[in-house]
Amino acid sequence: MDTMLAAATLRDEAAKGGKALETVQSLTDEVGPRLAGSKGEPLAQEWAVRAMTAAGLTNVRKEAATVPVWQRGEETAELLAENPVELAVTALGGSVATPAAGLEADVVVVPTLDALEALPREKVEGKIVLVAQVMERSRDGRGYGKAVRARGLAASKAAKLGAIAALVRSIGTDDNRLPHTGAMRYEDGAPKIPAGALSIPDADLLVRLVSEGKTPRLRLVLTPQALADAPSFNVVGEVVGSERPDEIVLLGAHLDSWDLGRGAIDDGAGCAIVLEAGRNAAHARERPRRTVRVVLFANEENGSGGSKAYAKTHEAEMPKHVFALEADLGAGKVFTVRFRGDDASIAASKDLVSLLAPLAITSELEPGEGGSDIRPLRSFGVPVADAEQDATRYFDFHHTANDTLDKIDRAEIDQAAAAVTTLAYAAAHTRASFGRVPEKKHD
Ligand SMILES: [Zn+2]
Repeated sequence: MDTMLAAATLRDEAAKGGKALETVQSLTDEVGPRLAGSKGEPLAQEWAVRAMTAAGLTNVRKEAATVPVWQRGEETAELLAENPVELAVTALGGSVATPAAGLEADVVVVPTLDALEALPREKVEGKIVLVAQVMERSRDGRGYGKAVRARGLAASKAAKLGAIAALVRSIGTDDNRLPHTGAMRYEDGAPKIPAGALSIPDADLLVRLVSEGKTPRLRLVLTPQALADAPSFNVVGEVVGSERPDEIVLLGAHLDSWDLGRGAIDDGAGCAIVLEAGRNAAHARERPRRTVRVVLFANEENGSGGSKAYAKTHEAEMPKHVFALEADLGAGKVFTVRFRGDDASIAASKDLVSLLAPLAITSELEPGEGGSDIRPLRSFGVPVADAEQDATRYFDFHHTANDTLDKIDRAEIDQAAAAVTTLAYAAAHTRASFGRVPEKKHD
């Protein structure tokens, strides 16, 4: 059968629906949260081995990685007033702790990191800083990329000006009193101060108080702790290619999740989507010519220990990685595909995109990014693609206690799984080359 016809046949089968929703249900109900170093993490790895085997993948294995271990502690924020207010707060991943009894200080509110950096030291010294960065809602989630810097950098920028703690308005788009966690990092040379996120309504309360000329005062308790790095694993399974088994089409998602929710949309959904693509490739009437390798990465959320280990373990094999894609933007429908490649990739990708038209998917000239776990592959010249999912509602729930199974619509995740199935199978089965994308080594 012609390659494209074989892929179209598989697409039409997949479009009828598969087991993606059941897969997320099994992961979230049987395992639940699975942050690096937590109790859930090894349970998730065993779950992944079983899920891959049941999907018909072969060479199913765990590959060693090293991950940081950070555990949440107590977390409260009280707005001191005649009628005190318990604000909804959560520590950001990687944060140091406050003293056990907490710390108490006036709050300085700024709208952005730039506004913070423009403040003189005397306005910030001894205070708690709130960076009330607003995130815009959009279909492709691009507002996140713009806003998330505040979460990553607020603590060190504030500490350099003498602040004793830093808070951010949750990087999200909802109006719930549920804070959004997520990783932060300390700059070398800056004092390490505790960092947390307030729920959006609570952050906005502080913004209003300041605009009314008041000086809010908080008592903040955050007692997370960092333990020694621990061994972990990526879980890998394959559909071995019939003609060029050494050439690899990599499909990634991340197995870890934040501790607050159940890890359904981030990234149980992505795991289910790539497992469906693997299952469909394994059961296709024609085995794909190249190997489809499904990788469920460890520790995407707070350290990327899994993706670093993968790139290192498979460095010699990188020239044989012909195409890579990661599913890590929830459970919504795919509406467009973006590629990062050279002229050869662009030509080959046109065939792939034409296959997706019946699923109402177009392509965009804007270059793909590749998802954070496969980004290290870019420095080896591996062409990457993004199957862009509708993320309009994704950041309402992302990294919160609200990341639960009920946020997933069966028809939407089935469409996304059919799209990734089609892309992966066609990329593996075609004899066309996707070329290489020379790129400087980066971190
Ligand atoms: Zn994710």
